[in-house]
Amino acid sequence: MNACELAELLFPNVTQTPEEAEAQYPARELPEGAKVTRVAPSPTGFVHFGTLFPAFVSERLAHQSGGTFYLRIEDTDSLRYVPGAEQDLVNTLSYYGIRFDEGPAVNGITGNYGPYWQSQRKETYHIFAKQLVREGKAYPYFPTDEELAALKQVNKKEENKNKDWAAQAQAAQAAQEARRTAWKETAEKSVAQGRPFVLYILADGDGEKKVFFTDLIKGKVEFPENEEDFVLLKSDGIPTYHFAHAVDDHLMRTTTVVRGEEWLPSLPKHLQLFRYLGFKPPKYLHIAQLMRMEGTSKKKLSKRDKGAALADYKAMGYPRASVIEYVFTLLNSNFEEWRRANPDKPWEEFPFSVKKMSISGALFDFDKLNDVSKNVISRMTAEEVYDGVLAWAQEYDPDFAGLLTAQPDIAKAAFAIGRGGNKPRKDLTVWADTKAYMGFFFDSLYTVQDMYPDPFDKSDIRNALTAFKDSFDPADDQQTWFDKIKDIAGSIGFAPDMKAYKAEPDKYKGHIGDVSMFLRVAVTGKMNAPDLYAVMQILGRDATLARIDTILNTILS
Ligand code: GLU
Repeated sequence: MNACELAELLFPNVTQTPEEAEAQYPARELPEGAKVTRVAPSPTGFVHFGTLFPAFVSERLAHQSGGTFYLRIEDTDSLRYVPGAEQDLVNTLSYYGIRFDEGPAVNGITGNYGPYWQSQRKETYHIFAKQLVREGKAYPYFPTDEELAALKQVNKKEENKNKDWAAQAQAAQAAQEARRTAWKETAEKSVAQGRPFVLYILADGDGEKKVFFTDLIKGKVEFPENEEDFVLLKSDGIPTYHFAHAVDDHLMRTTTVVRGEEWLPSLPKHLQLFRYLGFKPPKYLHIAQLMRMEGTSKKKLSKRDKGAALADYKAMGYPRASVIEYVFTLLNSNFEEWRRANPDKPWEEFPFSVKKMSISGALFDFDKLNDVSKNVISRMTAEEVYDGVLAWAQEYDPDFAGLLTAQPDIAKAAFAIGRGGNKPRKDLTVWADTKAYMGFFFDSLYTVQDMYPDPFDKSDIRNALTAFKDSFDPADDQQTWFDKIKDIAGSIGFAPDMKAYKAEPDKYKGHIGDVSMFLRVAVTGKMNAPDLYAVMQILGRDATLARIDTILNTILS
């Protein structure tokens, strides 16, 4: 049987030619230099934080060049199929502002280069598989029943542990030799019996020789040529990643493949496949895995580590803008500098550049994320903070959301404290912080959390609070208000300013800061709170005095 006959035998129903398939996916009409990129996730039910890195890089490369950015769902692995995972993935990427031009979107499907689900592209893969067989570049293997059963086991790798690798390589080589010709005896009979087959590539590489390639981040890389006959179609006719990658990225006219570094060692296989199929390979950009520090050593940020699950960031209360900002901070070394110069510009205006990416990969660090998030929130308007907190609270703290909606003016005024101006306050890291930060504005959340420190005499505190009550007038401007507190300090033996106190500390019972603290604890319940003058302005006369009264009649009575 010759190769053409074998191709007919294996794929009798494939009537379309590669040329006809090509015609369905014409070259895209895009401006010179425009890049076509994609995100090609496998919906396994877990969206890793690291997913955002290739996604943003691909998005930027396409949209900064006037190109196209699409989503392709790599759902060929039925063993890893998780219901609902795909929708979750689409929603998560959309939540973080990843906008696709084509593919499954939150509100349906767009684009002329589909289907965008690999599970719907079986016929297309078979057209090219048939071509490879016809040209003698691929061959079938009909597994025995035992081999078929073994193929279905997920954890085959485990069995290989502690084996003699040299012996194993030799055995694999021998098996490959045997497999290459086995079909000559078995194909006809096996097809007649309806037995499934696995399609292998007939590798022409020489492991002693090198194949060179230029990665967009790593520069020139070299690998041994591929001499392994790897699988193109599994026994159920579904393609492997390698085969689907070549067919899909070619037909969908991807110019630049951005993917995880774990695929780099497969590159010789992919280049071989593109050559066999007569396709021009895309440009590749392999992104290093996200690492974290453990003691002094770097570890992969793996699934179980805190921070690995993208879904957790929303629950932890990180504004989406903070997460995006953090990703760009890690992606491009000059992003923070740009941000300082352009505090109000959207990230889309940042001139993202592959040259500013780090080869060795980014180091994930919560401290840095928190720092970025504080800055992001500090630049928001009170209205934006209110909206962000409310959306978070509606999902994760409905009681708090109820308070925010019942008294929006109080909440917005509270968020406005210290906001705007050149040096906005950086009190908030995540939305989840806000309740502790400003919850005391709501009577139902107000409690005295910080007790007055021991060294102060109850009667001094009582005298200070009483005097303040008598003098408080919400119509006072901040200076007048503060001058009154200074007077009170002086009248009870506390230094009215810090300079006087520092010069002669023994002369005083304390200083103006202590007297302010007496008031702060009474009115906010806490030693640390936003600007007290502003707090009292928002609370108003009645609530301020009522709280002072309560303290006088309870803790200080
Ligand atoms: N489905 C592959 C993965 O999730 C995609 C790799 C690629 O982008 O080509 O790793």
